[in-house]
Amino acid sequence: MPNMNERLAHVGSGFAKFLTPPEPDVIRFTVGQPDFDTPSSIVEAAKDALDRGETAYTRPQGSVELCQAVSSHLERYNIHRDHDDVLITPGCKQALFYSMITLLNPGDEVLLLSPAWPSYDGMLRLLGVTPIHVPVLQHNYHPDFDALASAVTSKTTAIILNSPNNPTGAVYTSSEIERLTAFSVEHDLWIIDDMIYANLTWTDEGYSSPTQFEGGAGRTVSIGGWSKGWSMTGWRLGWITGPTRVMTNVKTVNASSATHVPTFLMPAAKHAFDAMDDVERMKKEFAKRRMLIHEGFQSLPGVNVPEPEGAFYMFCDIRGTGMSDTEFALRAMEEARVQCIPGSLMPGGEGFIRISYATSEENINEGVRRLKQWLEELQ
Ligand code: PLP
Repeated sequence: MPNMNERLAHVGSGFAKFLTPPEPDVIRFTVGQPDFDTPSSIVEAAKDALDRGETAYTRPQGSVELCQAVSSHLERYNIHRDHDDVLITPGCKQALFYSMITLLNPGDEVLLLSPAWPSYDGMLRLLGVTPIHVPVLQHNYHPDFDALASAVTSKTTAIILNSPNNPTGAVYTSSEIERLTAFSVEHDLWIIDDMIYANLTWTDEGYSSPTQFEGGAGRTVSIGGWSKGWSMTGWRLGWITGPTRVMTNVKTVNASSATHVPTFLMPAAKHAFDAMDDVERMKKEFAKRRMLIHEGFQSLPGVNVPEPEGAFYMFCDIRGTGMSDTEFALRAMEEARVQCIPGSLMPGGEGFIRISYATSEENINEGVRRLKQWLEELQ
């Protein structure tokens, strides 16, 4: 038989092993998607489009109206891009892949602030690009600029940013983003900015875009989507925008692969920007849960957790329990009936576990109660 793509052998399976739906009595702190229904007016907008018969091929980069709506939405983050430089993708993930196909060549090295969401590593490896995992500071999960400087080689062509961050919940300050932009200018790097969690921040400054700093706009590709902020994970809708010369090539990549997202989803995605009250309602829920779960985990023996700053994740240092993160996750599941993600599934995450608080207050209280009882009995 002929060979297959050999690079696939180097692509990991991410969190999959620890995301398997467990028996119903298990409390899951693993799932990275909001537990709310998509706001009903967005659902209605998709149904209306179907009723109008919007089921044929359409403009590959996305309808003009939708691209305009994304362009206006991004203004709130100081990202100024013409609507013709916006392209709608099947999920943020596809937008990330498009950006990598467009900007990178086999043999390139790309900096990741680690621990990093595992899909970046897999996508880069698929393209024959080497991910360079540069550890963040362990006390707050913010960038370590000395480590970044020493990781740059003549092959480094890009850095991937993700603030608010999955898995750590860190939100980089605007002065850190400014420094990261200056660093990218100094070393002539592309910036792939995964801003999928931009509207879920708990810091005063919130999300900050490299495009607003000197030299940033010409080298930054901003990528986001509807999955997290609007609770639309299954709709598979994302966007990508960047400098015109980059977007020209992104359009070619898209036209050569997906063509476009489902036509009847586009009016719904546009309507989502008119449903910001629903977004705020969900954000308020996450804000309450964040306080509750942080307080709960801080009370666990041997566990230390910096305050989560964004997204709906918390990254917990469990080294004080004497267990490895994998042992912790396996035993928490077996003995406390709580599911969590061991950090060592990502380079740089050893000794930590990722907790998602995209779950009810009731589950948070019960999960914390179980973990506390379990850890106290082990002491
Ligand atoms: N980027 C990050 C950091 C994520 O955590 C996720 C999903 O978990 C994605 C991108 C994927 O987004 P989408 O579902 O829109 O493809």
